[in-house]
Amino acid sequence: MIKAAFIAVSAIVPVLPAFALQAGLPAQSSPPEWTQEQAPFRVFGDTYYVGTRGVSVVLITSNKGHVLIDGAMPESPAMIADHIRRIGFRVEDVELIVNSHVHYDHAGGIAALQRLSGAQVAASPSSAAVFRSGRSGPDDPQDGLLPPIDRVRDIRVIADGEVLRVGSLAIQGHFTGGHTPGGTSWTWRSCEGADCLNIVYADSMTAVSADSFKFSSSTTYPRAVADFEKSIAFLRKTPCDLLLTPHPEASGLWGRVAKRDAGDKNGLIERGHCSRYANRAETGLRTRLAREKTP
Ligand SMILES: [Zn+2]
Repeated sequence: MIKAAFIAVSAIVPVLPAFALQAGLPAQSSPPEWTQEQAPFRVFGDTYYVGTRGVSVVLITSNKGHVLIDGAMPESPAMIADHIRRIGFRVEDVELIVNSHVHYDHAGGIAALQRLSGAQVAASPSSAAVFRSGRSGPDDPQDGLLPPIDRVRDIRVIADGEVLRVGSLAIQGHFTGGHTPGGTSWTWRSCEGADCLNIVYADSMTAVSADSFKFSSSTTYPRAVADFEKSIAFLRKTPCDLLLTPHPEASGLWGRVAKRDAGDKNGLIERGHCSRYANRAETGLRTRLAREKTP
């Protein structure tokens, strides 16, 4: 029995991160990378990576307050605050926190980070509703698989395309639903001297769900396919020099970091990366819809 259990576990472990991403596994079976330490580092200009090894958190700094994108897992806020300090900034100077989507691995730490920083949290209407209640609704394709998140009481609801400003920073929110109804991607420009890049934090684009959910015929989220198509079209056209994603490996971040560490100072930059990401999302969606048609 013990041996059989060991074999079963060791057979599962190598595929767990990808599988967990696909399945939206509950917190207790999350991949260890999602809470694993990752030394913080500069991405480009005033943009920094302060997340864990498996879940991105991005800090954009100014001399009049900072913006934080995503809050990682419920157990991650102390680590994120430590990362912010280690690169020379104060978590108390974070003025605005925004989110990709309201699953526990990206939104679970936001309420605590708001308490640590006193920042305003801003979100799409659908995401704001989940932050207020702490629970995803039946319109979330993964409803039933998702643990609740710590509630955020004070939240600013934004419109699609709205530009949010903190000091000299301007960050634009783009509603890119499909993975969740309220999913949002964020764009901004960061500069090193005269050299400026369009940076895109593109939300997860995987068409994954609970067993009972069908993207092609959902009555609880009838816009699911239309939302994905809008998101894919947005990612194909948005200026994109440097792509970041809620799970770093979804955009090959660690390979790009290794390239930079090996001496290619532009190793993180891949022009056209967002449209390749969009193409992969479209293939995934088409595959999923085809599978829903086969009885
Ligand atoms: Zn995730």
